[in-house]
Amino acid sequence: MFGHESKPTRNYVYGILAPTEGADLVDEQLRAAHQYRNNLVRLELDRREAVQQCLLAMRPAVARLTGEVADAVTAYDAAAAALKVRNARERNKRASADERQASKDAAALLKGLRGQLKTVRTEAFAADDVRAALDAIETVASERRREARGACGVYWGTYLTVEQAAGSFRSGAPPIFHRWTGEGRLAIQLQNGVEPAVLTLGQDKRLRIELTGECGRGKRPLAVAWLRVGSDGRAPVWAKFPMVYHRPIPVDAKIKWAFVHRRRCGTFWRWQLMLSVARDAWESPTTSGGSVGIDLGWRVVPEGLRVASWAGDDGRRGELILPADDLRRWSEPATRRAERDVRFGEFLPRVADWFAANAGRFGEEMRERVKTIRQWRSPARLAGLLRAWSAERVTGDEEIYGELVRWMREDSREWNSESGQRARASRWRDDYYRCFVKRLASEYRVVHVEDMDLREIKRKPKAEEAESENQTARGNAFIASPGRLRELIREGFAETMSIDAAWTTQRCHACGEIDGFDAAAELVRTCRHCGVTEDQDYRAAMNLLHGEQPDADEMAGVARGV
Ligand SMILES: [Zn+2]
Repeated sequence: MFGHESKPTRNYVYGILAPTEGADLVDEQLRAAHQYRNNLVRLELDRREAVQQCLLAMRPAVARLTGEVADAVTAYDAAAAALKVRNARERNKRASADERQASKDAAALLKGLRGQLKTVRTEAFAADDVRAALDAIETVASERRREARGACGVYWGTYLTVEQAAGSFRSGAPPIFHRWTGEGRLAIQLQNGVEPAVLTLGQDKRLRIELTGECGRGKRPLAVAWLRVGSDGRAPVWAKFPMVYHRPIPVDAKIKWAFVHRRRCGTFWRWQLMLSVARDAWESPTTSGGSVGIDLGWRVVPEGLRVASWAGDDGRRGELILPADDLRRWSEPATRRAERDVRFGEFLPRVADWFAANAGRFGEEMRERVKTIRQWRSPARLAGLLRAWSAERVTGDEEIYGELVRWMREDSREWNSESGQRARASRWRDDYYRCFVKRLASEYRVVHVEDMDLREIKRKPKAEEAESENQTARGNAFIASPGRLRELIREGFAETMSIDAAWTTQRCHACGEIDGFDAAAELVRTCRHCGVTEDQDYRAAMNLLHGEQPDADEMAGVARGV
């Protein structure tokens, strides 16, 4: 069973410079988009709270069980923590039988209570009176969202992308507010698509690419990208970004979306224009008709960081591993970061001590600002302090002020070099991924990948994971970036099939039977039906290749532990 065929779109990315026109508007739009997103977070949190209150009022059993579950979670955490402390102290991991039993009991109690809560909640959600109350909450919530959109002040394409991203707020863990860092993106949707010639001729009212000349020996075309950021009556208001139009768009393609990204790189901004380009068919680098399944997700292996396993329909197979030696590309900037943190921790008390004695000589805003100075965790706070301080100097502050200026200069240099290292590491990884994709795409025409939300492509489970590894886990996710790899795969192959991957690990690729097992406990699995032993990621790749999914009966069997 095949999933839907992905639309053959590719992203064309161009480095651009900061806007030469409309810079204030761009900044304003980025801020407004950020604010709009946080407003949507607030509305969703309010909606969840209203639903919770409604259930509590109408079904007290839900309230009681919710409280009991919360208590059981606390008890379970406490038992688990006690066990952990014991294990850490006595390295041989010998907790007493009592302690292990206490932890097990707490888990069982929690499980039972959660089951009961689920039952009463399901009952409540099915009852007419509750449903009516919940519908009323939904009506209010969608009305408030409409108002928020009306008041957001964000231009059309950008608010669509904000809302799209906010689509995931409604389920799962509560959404969280983001701090304003200055990073963000603006978007323009070009309904029905626009041909590149229309853009370069300057005929579109939303996006233009004005060719202005050539540069360098390669005579690369210089251009100015015009992005609409607002309207003056019916006339477009433009922001303009100088760029090199180094990668021309095929004449028979259509541009569907344009994005301008602003990202931080040390003390600088890095700007990027990304055009999403659709085309009926992209040329294939191969004449063969073969297919390959690629299973994504990262896993630490002795050779390095494995980020993909693949299986071809010609029986060949392989893996994509970021070599252990190359992982240093990321550990170096991480080390520099840690050193910066140490220097920050050493320097901060000097400034804090001075303000402890002198804050009274400043205005109220400044006194408020430095109140929490001893808890500051990032040099960015000191940069903010320096900005405010430069506008409000007091007599006798020369020495400490000068020290701060010098410290910030040094730290900025370190920050830029650390950011540069990290950017170089990402570029190296992207090139490495591109080579892998190019090689496979020259041998197989069609690729099968998981139809998964990018956020869900995670680390492969590993049962015996050591505690300390949890800290490196987030780092490894950043290094592997399976979402980025999938993007490059989609762009590199002539055709992409997205396969529902829910059962790719549980089905035996050799005999086709469902072979339910604990994927976290066994990396290499021997099928209980046919005895074939195989790495679970290769198994997943094979199942992606064949695109098979179990039917409902089989899944029920697995659920029963058959
Ligand atoms: Zn089997």
